[in-house]
Amino acid sequence: MKRKIRLLIGACIFTVVALATIQGYFIYNTYQLIEKEVHAGIKKQVTDLEDTEEWFSIYNVWMDNVQDFVDDHVDGKAKGNDLQKYLGRNSDSLTTVIKKYMHKMKKPGDYDIDYSIHISSITLTNDKVTDSIFKGNALALANGKEEKTKIKSADGRWEHEQEHNGIKSSIVVKSQRYYGFGDWKHTIIKKMGGLLAFSVLLMAFVVYLYYLSLKNLISQKRIADIKTDFVNNITHEFQTPLATMDIAVKTLKRKEQQMSVEHYQHTISMIERQNERLQKLFRQVTEASVTPIASDDSISITCHEIKEMISDFKLSKPDVNITCQQEQPALTVKMDPFHLNTIIVNLLDNAVKYGGDIIGVDLKIENGNFLLSVKDNGKGIPVQEQASIFDKFYRAEKGNIHDTKGLGLGLFYIKQLVETYKGKIKVESEEGKGAMFLITIPV
Ligand code: ADP
Repeated sequence: MKRKIRLLIGACIFTVVALATIQGYFIYNTYQLIEKEVHAGIKKQVTDLEDTEEWFSIYNVWMDNVQDFVDDHVDGKAKGNDLQKYLGRNSDSLTTVIKKYMHKMKKPGDYDIDYSIHISSITLTNDKVTDSIFKGNALALANGKEEKTKIKSADGRWEHEQEHNGIKSSIVVKSQRYYGFGDWKHTIIKKMGGLLAFSVLLMAFVVYLYYLSLKNLISQKRIADIKTDFVNNITHEFQTPLATMDIAVKTLKRKEQQMSVEHYQHTISMIERQNERLQKLFRQVTEASVTPIASDDSISITCHEIKEMISDFKLSKPDVNITCQQEQPALTVKMDPFHLNTIIVNLLDNAVKYGGDIIGVDLKIENGNFLLSVKDNGKGIPVQEQASIFDKFYRAEKGNIHDTKGLGLGLFYIKQLVETYKGKIKVESEEGKGAMFLITIPV
């Protein structure tokens, strides 16, 4: 079963990872699709921008600068790398104009983009001689600070026939138009916000469902184990006294006439003891299924009362050494004496059952609480078992029912009693070094 559960956990993890991968793949694809969509939107925005009369008038301003540069170059007054100077003449005012123009053209849903035009080459052809008068990258026009990751929207080619100083020539200006978009990723992720949130929620829900199912399965398995143990234990516990009583009754029937008085008494008291044991077992089972009711009456608890319980207990366990200590002379607590007796006798019973022969009972009042501790020198409880020993039907020695007898109900019932009085019970123990049960009940 453990292997099955491990396999199931492995399968769940695999499914979650596979689902997450597939979801990641789809999200990535969606990201790319939206990215394309945004690009297409911006390109359309740029095309609309470049398709007006107003735009051509702006365009002509920097083209005039290019024309001046070409004329001066022909006259020998400018060199190739002077182009940027010519273009820079009215760049500030051009930037302001283009900014205003773009603001005016912006429609709802349009993006806040950077726009720029760069000249990459200028060639001059006359009498079939081609002269490359500029080659490089000169900024001709921009609406502000350029984005580092600018995207090319189109190539431009402007051709113009001219006559300068009586010489005919043709000018070819090659340019590139770029756009940039600062909040690129943020915008796309914002567009995918709903999808992302839904995916994360769905994933979290699937993981939570798996977690709940596995938790439920493990707890069902634990309950099933505990019930099997309980049935085994109860069968064993009831079998021994019933078998002993059966033999004793048969002996009485067969030999009643020839029996000596001692033998007769011995057999009767054997039946009595086994009957008592059966009753005790029944009591344990019924007590554990009924919720105890707290008493409002105050009782005084001293070692005197405890010693009475101890001496009754020692009738059946004469070899055990039990001492009682009390810090304050008078300890008063609101509790049913029968409940207190059940707690102490059950704890003493366990102490002896699990190897103790020296037991100390301690009573005191501390910080408004009544503290009762029962300490033994028995075999102790392994740390990993300590949290479970108060559970219903829990027995540390699972399966090994013949070693020490019990139904796993004693500590569960004690805990129920203690909690009825709003108290707490805890155990301090180390394997092989005895155990101490500490009960705290508010006074
Ligand atoms: P039971 O004694 O019938 O098994 P309990 O509820 O009284 O059931 O105890 C639960 C488990 O706690 C026991 O099976 C035992 O392993 C452990 N235990 C209880 N008291 C002691 C003790 N004094 N020393 C060692 N182990 C103990």
